[in-house]
Amino acid sequence: MPNHNRKTHSRAILSTSMVLACCAAFSAQAARHEPTSPAESTNATAVARFDAAIAQGLPARLQLTGLRSGQTRGDDDLHIEGRLEGDVVFADGTHGVTYDGMWRGTRAVVTRSRGHLDITSVTRSGIDITGYTEGSDEVEHEALAGDPRDRSARTAVKASPPAPPATPDAAEELKPNRLTFHLMLHDDTRGTYSHHIHAGYVAWWLADFQRRIAPGRVVDVLYSRDIAGVTDVRYGYLGTLHDWSDAMERYASERDIPRTYRHKFLLVTKGMVEPDRYGRSWQKGFDGMASLDGRYPEVAHQLGHLLGAKHERAEVRYQGWWCETNMYAPSLVLRSNCYVYSRANMSLIDDYVRTGEGFIGHSRWSED
Ligand SMILES: [Zn+2]
Repeated sequence: MPNHNRKTHSRAILSTSMVLACCAAFSAQAARHEPTSPAESTNATAVARFDAAIAQGLPARLQLTGLRSGQTRGDDDLHIEGRLEGDVVFADGTHGVTYDGMWRGTRAVVTRSRGHLDITSVTRSGIDITGYTEGSDEVEHEALAGDPRDRSARTAVKASPPAPPATPDAAEELKPNRLTFHLMLHDDTRGTYSHHIHAGYVAWWLADFQRRIAPGRVVDVLYSRDIAGVTDVRYGYLGTLHDWSDAMERYASERDIPRTYRHKFLLVTKGMVEPDRYGRSWQKGFDGMASLDGRYPEVAHQLGHLLGAKHERAEVRYQGWWCETNMYAPSLVLRSNCYVYSRANMSLIDDYVRTGEGFIGHSRWSED
């Protein structure tokens, strides 16, 4: 059982092969708007222009920046190929819709949430997020490279005020073609919006999962926080995963939250989840934990364990630079992240998602 020597964000710098989908999402509120005519949209802000393009049907192509000032640049081109099926519910109760496509010539995923549009792409230098707010011409940009505790870039991801936690629809969640990922945000992540966690750690994984690994599946990502007994647990000691798994089991039972092989529960923390570990999960089980202080693919790595992926099937690739696929462990400082699973792990995950083979509901075995 190899122990993870996780690379930190400072090593998230070189990745590219990522086949990401660029998505732009588009809120229910926005969906109610009448489509903007092409003449009007010429002078519209980026978010309005995006909504108008989506309303015309997909695929769609548009320019996003410098619209009013006439400074549109050819490389601010957004090509939206399709919408990814499923719901993203943020911790404030608002919803996001996900699209994939190309942004500035790179695969990207776009999340349209209430009042905002976030474009996440994986570049050679790491995760790149460009954000636009409704009614504004300002371009918000954040590059998630370097140490997360030393970011100087402006935050690209905005969120609305707190609201009650999302109440999942159990009947919907039990549909056979649907997978549900519950991301339970520990109280010590309160300084980071769930929108931000999604754009930086999850959106690129979600697009890769839906486009390349399990196409045709409906995938929900539900963020929750401020749940007594679940998100306020003590952690960082050996055996944390056992105790949190017990807490999650009780909570799901009380709230009638389905727990099948297609339902996964990840505690997202700020610090190390157990001594010398940024993440740990039950192999093919229900529950896992991942730290935002680990490398950027830590969430993808732990979800991979829950879906049957293995360290031994991971790869180091060379594409002008060396990178490690999501399940690689232990990680080396000098290598970057590929932000994808190896072909062998994609196959293991595909098998698991289709058949549930090897699912152990109350598994207490981890690779980490
Ligand atoms: Zn692992």
